[in-house]
Amino acid sequence: MTDVVLVALGSNLGDRAAYLASARNALALLRGTRLVAASAVEETAPFGWSAQGPYLNQMVALRTSIAPLPLLAELQRIERSLGRVRRARWGARTIDLDIVRHGERRATLATLTLPHPGIASRAFWQREIAQLDGLLAAAA
Ligand code: ATP
Ligand code: CA
Ligand code: CA
Repeated sequence: MTDVVLVALGSNLGDRAAYLASARNALALLRGTRLVAASAVEETAPFGWSAQGPYLNQMVALRTSIAPLPLLAELQRIERSLGRVRRARWGARTIDLDIVRHGERRATLATLTLPHPGIASRAFWQREIAQLDGLLAAAA
């Protein structure tokens, strides 16, 4: 069984477009996973308080058999492999990978909330979700 999973990509350090591309490649190589759609790339202002550069954001849709917690571990492995250093939440980073939606699953764990609680407040995520839903519907 596979689920449609939406993963948000964000980068605001270094060659941001190259980090997005490397992350897309790494996601597509996960076991039992296909990358089935990608939104447009959008630049957004950083939130939080520290002075940092703008983000490049993108969202992709995966079809995967990987369950939510192992998938989160894979995303964190990819983040590390792309040079992310964990400092403050919302601090500058080469790559940030969030699980926005994992099929219809809901989770309220210390390490994982599904759907991601940021959806309601991030207009760019709402736009990206709408794009992906449109692409997925067209492909169905
Ligand atoms: P935000 O999640 O508000 O976009 P962030 O991405 O900057 O903030 P991080 O520092 O990357 O936050 O991650 C903090 C923690 O969030 C992670 O260690 C992870 O366990 C947790 N987390 C909870 N729900 C999710 C989710 N749906 N996707 C990714 N990480 C999540
Ligand atoms: Ca994030
Ligand atoms: Ca994150």
